Amino acid sequence: MLSTRKDSWMMTREDMQILLHVAEWALNHRHVMSTIRKLAGTEENYLIIARELDRVHAHIAQARSIHAEATLTLVEWLVILDAYQWKCAYCQEKPFEVMHHHIPLHEGGSTLSNCLPACRPCCSPRKKKPPDQAPLID
Ligand SMILES: [Zn+2]
Repeated sequence: MLSTRKDSWMMTREDMQILLHVAEWALNHRHVMSTIRKLAGTEENYLIIARELDRVHAHIAQARSIHAEATLTLVEWLVILDAYQWKCAYCQEKPFEVMHHHIPLHEGGSTLSNCLPACRPCCSPRKKKPPDQAPLID
């Protein structure tokens, strides 16, 4: 499931485990931000989880609004981010800034296999090229 890489770019294994734990909890208890804040432990973890929860919700809503597949969960998104060490999946250098749909949203939807972290320059249509390797997740 999880990448076993040790050279995590910005967060410790422990932080990642906490984030996943909170994300799993949030699957069944939506919008209870005060509890999410408590579970997250640190303000930093809370801000990350709140930001990524918003991001996943926004992309799910966007996919639903055009009747595309909309199955991505916060847990899946965190696993994707971890697999790419929270970097852009395309250049694998810059920190990720946006969730990018590898296949256009109306065809690929917001799903585990279609959502990748990307930096803004790599999202520009002229520069975009596929990642060299598939996501490091099962
Ligand atoms: Zn990039």
